[in-house]
Amino acid sequence: MHVPLGVVRPESPSQTTWIASAELPTKVGPLKVHIFRSTGGGIDGAAPVEHAALVAGDIADAEDLPVRVHSECITSEVFGSLKCDCRDQLDWAKAEIVRRGAGAILYLRQEGRGIGLGNKIRAYELQARGMDTVDANRGLGLPDDARSYDVARDMLDYFRVRSVRLMTNNPDKVAKLRGLGVVVTGRIPVVIAANPFSAAYLEAKRTRMAHDLPARAHVPGVVAVTTTLEGCRRANGHRV
Ligand SMILES: [Zn+2]
Repeated sequence: MHVPLGVVRPESPSQTTWIASAELPTKVGPLKVHIFRSTGGGIDGAAPVEHAALVAGDIADAEDLPVRVHSECITSEVFGSLKCDCRDQLDWAKAEIVRRGAGAILYLRQEGRGIGLGNKIRAYELQARGMDTVDANRGLGLPDDARSYDVARDMLDYFRVRSVRLMTNNPDKVAKLRGLGVVVTGRIPVVIAANPFSAAYLEAKRTRMAHDLPARAHVPGVVAVTTTLEGCRRANGHRV
C-alpha cells in the first residue's frame, strides 16, 4: 500500500502525522505496527503524543473492518493490575484480529480515560475509600471520561478504511466516532470475565456509564480471567 508522509487531515484541530511502520511478530501472530504523532488533542492539549495502530492483514479500503479503539492503561497492561479489564480487552482484540485475518487496534495514549496516570492513581486512592470510578473523578474535579477519538478517525482515514465494526461494549464510543464521521456498521461485544478486584469497576461501567455488560449477579467471583469470547460468555453464564 502506498503510504503518504505528512499530516492526515489538515483542517482538524488536532494534527496527526504518520511517523513509521514495521512488521511486529507477537505471541498471537504477525502484526504490523504503525506510529502516528498528534498535536492539539488530550486534556492538556499541548505536548505531541505518539499513538500506535496494530494491524492484521491488508486493511486498505476495507469495509466492515473489525476495529478496536483502545486507550492506554499502563496499570493493567504493564503493571498487571487486576482493577480493570483493559489488558484482557487488548489481548482479546489482538487475538481476534489475527483470527479474523484482518483488523486493527488503534492504541491511543490517553491514560485513565484521558485524565493521565497521576490523576488516575489519585482516583484509585478515593476508590479505596469507597467511591466508585465516576464519583472519584468528580471528587477530583475531573471529567468522567476525557477521551477523544480524533486520532482514531485520522488513522482510519490514513488507511482509507471505509467502514468499521467496532469491538467495544461502550455505545458512547460508537456515538463519538460516528460524530467524527467514522462509518460504524456494527458492534462486536468484548466480554471479559470479572475478577474480585475488577467487579466493582465493571459494575460502575455498566450502571453509570451505560456499557453493555452482564449484570453483576452473573459475574463469577473468580480470579481466573478468560480471554476468549466463548470462554467469557461461558464464564458469565451466557449461551455460547
Ligand atoms: Zn484499565
